[in-house]
Amino acid sequence: MGKEIVLLGAGYGGVSFLNTVIPYIPPDIHIKVIDRLNHHAIKPEFYALASGSLNENKVKARFPSHPQVEYIQDEAEEIQIHHHKVICAQQEVSFEQLIVSLGCVDNYFNVPWAEEYTNSIQTFAKAIKTRKSIDNLPANSHLVIVGGGLSGVELASDLSEQHSEHKITLLERSNEILPTLPERIQRFVRSHLEDQKIDVLTNISVTMIDEKAVYYAGGTLVPYDLCVWAAGIMPHPVSNPLLAYSNADRLNRIVVKDNYELPYYNDIFVIGDCASSAFAPSAQLAHLQGKQLGEYFLSVWQGKEYVAHSLKLKGVLGYLGKKTGFGMINSQVLLGKIPHVIKSGVLWMHKNHSG
Ligand SMILES: Cc1cc2nc3c(=O)[nH]c(=O)nc-3n(C[C@H](O)[C@H](O)[C@H](O)COP(=O)(O)OP(=O)(O)OC[C@H]3O[C@@H](n4cnc5c(N)ncnc54)[C@H](O)[C@@H]3O)c2cc1C
Repeated sequence: MGKEIVLLGAGYGGVSFLNTVIPYIPPDIHIKVIDRLNHHAIKPEFYALASGSLNENKVKARFPSHPQVEYIQDEAEEIQIHHHKVICAQQEVSFEQLIVSLGCVDNYFNVPWAEEYTNSIQTFAKAIKTRKSIDNLPANSHLVIVGGGLSGVELASDLSEQHSEHKITLLERSNEILPTLPERIQRFVRSHLEDQKIDVLTNISVTMIDEKAVYYAGGTLVPYDLCVWAAGIMPHPVSNPLLAYSNADRLNRIVVKDNYELPYYNDIFVIGDCASSAFAPSAQLAHLQGKQLGEYFLSVWQGKEYVAHSLKLKGVLGYLGKKTGFGMINSQVLLGKIPHVIKSGVLWMHKNHSG
C-alpha cells in the first residue's frame, strides 16, 4: 500500500513543500491537502486587503496541481495523533504521515477583551471583515492599531494613504517601532509615518480594551472608533496536541528534528509559523522550511541519504504605502523606493510561480 500523506495548510510552508515534491511524486503516494481556503493566500499582503489598497484577487494564487494531490476545503479542528486522523468541520481524514503548516493566530497576551473588541488581519476572512468595517466608518473616525511591528506599520501607512479622511494612531509596547530592526530604519519609518500625520505612541503597554477605548499602564486611555490588533502571534492552536511529543520554544513553537519530524513521534512533521527555529516566524522562513521538508521526502522516496543544510535568510522588507519602503538585505539597510520595488518583485514571483 502506498503512503497517505496529509498536509494541513497550503500557505507559505505548505505550498513550498508541494512545489518541491510535485515533479517527483512516486506512483504509490497520495497527498491530501486540507485548507479552509480554495486558493493559496499571500499573507504578507493581508494588511493591504484590510486597508483596501488590494482586492481579494490580488492576494490569491492557484494551488499547485498534480493528479496525486487532492485538495479538501475544510476547517481542521483537531489532530488525533493516536488514531492518525484529522477531524475537520465536515469530515475526518486519516493519514499515515502528517505535515502541519497551519501558520499562526493572533496572540492577545491575556489582555482583557482584546479579542472581543479588536479587528484582525491574521486571516483572509478577518482582513476582509476589517476592510468592510473601515469602509462603514463615518469620516473623521479614529483608527487605532495596536502593535508597531512589521504588519502594524505596513497597515498604518497604507491606511493613511487609502483613508486620509480618518485619524490614525499606532501604539507600540517597546520604546521604538520595529524594535527588532536597526535604529536607522526605525527613525526613517517613524518620520515617514509622522509625515503621514499618523500618531506614533511608544512605550505603551496595553492593559485592557473595551468597546470604546484602549487602556494602557497608568490608567490612560486612547478612544477609538475601530481598533486593529497587530501586537503578536502564536502558533495555530490546532497544533497544540503535538506538544505531547515535543517541547515548546520561547514563542511556543513546536521543537522539531532536522527533518521537521516531532522528536518523540514518527511521521508527523511541522513547518512554518508552528515550528521552532532560530529565526523569527516569516513567510521567507516558512518557504525555506517547506522546501527543505520536500527535499527530505524526496531523499526518502529515492533511497538517498538526507543531509540537512542550515537555512539562510536574506533579510526583511516592508512597504510604506504604494511608493516607498524599508528593509535590510544581507545586513545592508535599504530605505525608500528600492526596498519597495524589491518587495513587489519578490511577492510577484511568489504569486506567479506558486501554482
Ligand atoms: C500583515 C502581515 C504582513 C506580513 N509581512 C511579511 C513579510 O513582509 N515578510 C515575511 O517573510 N513574512 C511576513 N508575514 C508573515 C508571514 O505571512 C507568515 O510568517 C507566513 O505566511 C507563515 O507561513 P505558514 O505556512 O506557516 O502559514 P500561512 O502562510 O499562514 O499558511 C497557513 C495555511 O493554513 C490554512 N489554515 C489555517 N488554519 C486552518 C484550519 N483550522 N483549517 C484549515 N486550514 C487552515 C490557511 O488558510 C493557510 O493557507 C506577514 C504576516 C502578516 C499577517
